[in-house]
Amino acid sequence: MRLLRITERVSRLGLGSACGVLALCLPCDSQSMARSSSLTGRLATNDVRIEFKAEPHTPWLVSLAGPGGVVWRNGIEEALPANVESNGVLTPVRWVLRPELATTGHQRVEFVYECAQPHLRLRWRWEARSEAGPVEHQIVVDNLSGEEIWLPLIDSLRLDWRRVGSSGLRHFYVEKGADTPSEQGTHLQPVNDGYRWVGRSSTYARPIQGEPREIIPIEFVYSDLASQSGWYAGIEFSGRTRISLDRKGDSLSTTLGLNGEAGAFRTRLEAHGSFKTPIAFLGAFSGGLDGGGNQLRKWIRAALTNPLTWNDPHYPLIVSNSWGSGMQVDEALALRMMSAAKELGLEMFHLDAGWFRGVGDWYPDSLKFPHGLAYLADQAHGLGLRFGLWVDWSQAGIDSNPGALNVHDPRVRDWLLKGVGPDWKPEEFKGQTIDLGAPAARDYAAEEAMRIVGDYHLDMLEHDGYLVAQGCTKNDHPHAAPDSSTQRIVHDSGFDFVSGANSTDVSYHAVESYYSIQEQLRKEHPGLLLEICNDGGRMVDFGSAAHGDYFSITDTYDPLSNRRAFYDASYVLPPAMLESYIEKWPAPTLDNFKYMLRSGMMGWMTLMLDTTAWTPEQHDAARRAFALYRGKLRPLIRDAQLYHVSERPDGVRWDGIEYWDPVRSKGVLFAFRGSTAEEPAHVFRLRGLDPRRRYRLHFEDGSTPELEVAGAKLMAAGFAVNLQEPLSSELVFLEEVQAGTK
Ligand SMILES: [Zn+2]
Repeated sequence: MRLLRITERVSRLGLGSACGVLALCLPCDSQSMARSSSLTGRLATNDVRIEFKAEPHTPWLVSLAGPGGVVWRNGIEEALPANVESNGVLTPVRWVLRPELATTGHQRVEFVYECAQPHLRLRWRWEARSEAGPVEHQIVVDNLSGEEIWLPLIDSLRLDWRRVGSSGLRHFYVEKGADTPSEQGTHLQPVNDGYRWVGRSSTYARPIQGEPREIIPIEFVYSDLASQSGWYAGIEFSGRTRISLDRKGDSLSTTLGLNGEAGAFRTRLEAHGSFKTPIAFLGAFSGGLDGGGNQLRKWIRAALTNPLTWNDPHYPLIVSNSWGSGMQVDEALALRMMSAAKELGLEMFHLDAGWFRGVGDWYPDSLKFPHGLAYLADQAHGLGLRFGLWVDWSQAGIDSNPGALNVHDPRVRDWLLKGVGPDWKPEEFKGQTIDLGAPAARDYAAEEAMRIVGDYHLDMLEHDGYLVAQGCTKNDHPHAAPDSSTQRIVHDSGFDFVSGANSTDVSYHAVESYYSIQEQLRKEHPGLLLEICNDGGRMVDFGSAAHGDYFSITDTYDPLSNRRAFYDASYVLPPAMLESYIEKWPAPTLDNFKYMLRSGMMGWMTLMLDTTAWTPEQHDAARRAFALYRGKLRPLIRDAQLYHVSERPDGVRWDGIEYWDPVRSKGVLFAFRGSTAEEPAHVFRLRGLDPRRRYRLHFEDGSTPELEVAGAKLMAAGFAVNLQEPLSSELVFLEEVQAGTK
């Protein structure tokens, strides 16, 4: 009732024109009256329940309850922007709740605030898109005024948990496998008083000696006590973002959102336009990190990824890729590799870099590919293979053929994130990045990407390199102009990187354009698969997970690097999306050979070597391994729960990953023996089983005869895998023994 009266008063005062005036007009005691009247909301999934409150001038998240009734209480209100720039003048804004515009349903809670001068509307939105898993949060600012506004940084999510208790809190986060996975990769740290951490992510992770590596933008905090319960929060965005976590006494605060560290972030809000913060998600879990991960991975599949992709029973595919021969690929080699791929039981031929006339000139080199690419794709299709193609469609070069993206073309020059000198030359497959945030650049890239997919009959499009800008020197793009006092330019990994106060805003616009191109590709070419490579493991995040189908998770392809990158990323992303490239590796014995293959077969597998050089025995072993993947491993990789049942791989000791599918009552343990000469056997303790049931263990290579073991024993004492050779492996298939069967 009281709310209604306030609403009436607000409309009488003409909120639409004077929210700044509102406070002056209200009687002195109206502030306290308004404070006692507020809206509440609640969202719940099977895993988390969150309560919200909208105060007259700001909303806040009140509490989060997770499995087992553990409740986290938040102590801070949302920090809505206090000022905006209007006509070049910093203008204070005063937000007033518009209760009549609120939504408080089961799947969405949205509190709406308005400011009269300048006329802005802010929507504080929470959504539960799936029955289980986390809920999502976004702040949208609509510019209802007729003039351009500049907004300051608005965080995606800010929380300050109070009374968090004194002991047992752990913080967990995962690095990107960019370039080469680091020695550590996954981080689990106690959250003691004074704990302070910042994790960062961008469109292109560049590991720099002595600096923290980029993270996959998500954090987990949980209690190490019995139920191992806690919360996690992440960001669905590929641009420059950061997550911070600070503990002070009983308070644990965290902030997620765009990264404003480089300087005074500001972003343009066009007249009648909208600004959206990157979506954050917030969930609660029990059962430790894999308990949280199994919930999260399922939610990502349900809420973020493309359902058409998962409807394809062949996803994730097993692939033959031409990069084993580097830039030397030509039609004859491609045709040979395709028939070899068919013979081995692979499912796609992926033509990597080396096929084009030049960087930015994405037409086949007619000397290497006299019949063109559509012909090659049709040949692949005739063999029952799919056809995928490498393109770095935001890179400009110096070719002057019609349609080529040429750095000296005045139009293209305006799009480059940084100009180049008259003698500049691209590298073999790396050029100068255009800023997709510039509308004309976006339109060019979209048209070119659609043309490539259509003209070349593609089933898969891989984008590589530094595709999406995260810094720009231009002052006539939609992003904030550069500031020469903060701007730095470095050349690294074959690309120019610009950083400065406007970098985050550059990445904000470029990422939105990139997403729109990926969405258009999906719309115009349903069923097309999109690989996110970006020089391997550099744009692995939840925004790209929503706009692509799989990630190259590292740029180093030996068995250890593949297992490390998979071990790390599989904590937070569906394993089907995690691609390992398998490169040539010394494998003197058949066991070494299988170890090499299996190290890249826990998720999406792409072979990047010349299979025609294999011995007949290796061919037979590979054919069997791929048949096993298609028949038994892939269903588990798609659907099963995943458990990290060892320490992170170090290449010396043993390591393993367990899949267990409670629906099929089947699973598999990937067991790897490192180089250790001392340890011919290793005990693995399994997870996720029913202690009261019995399980049949089948050792694929026959290293041990079939066993039947009680679930309780498998989980408590474990069972031993014996392998004679260092650098070897075993697949142990698990199946629940049904009552009445032997
Ligand atoms: Zn730009």
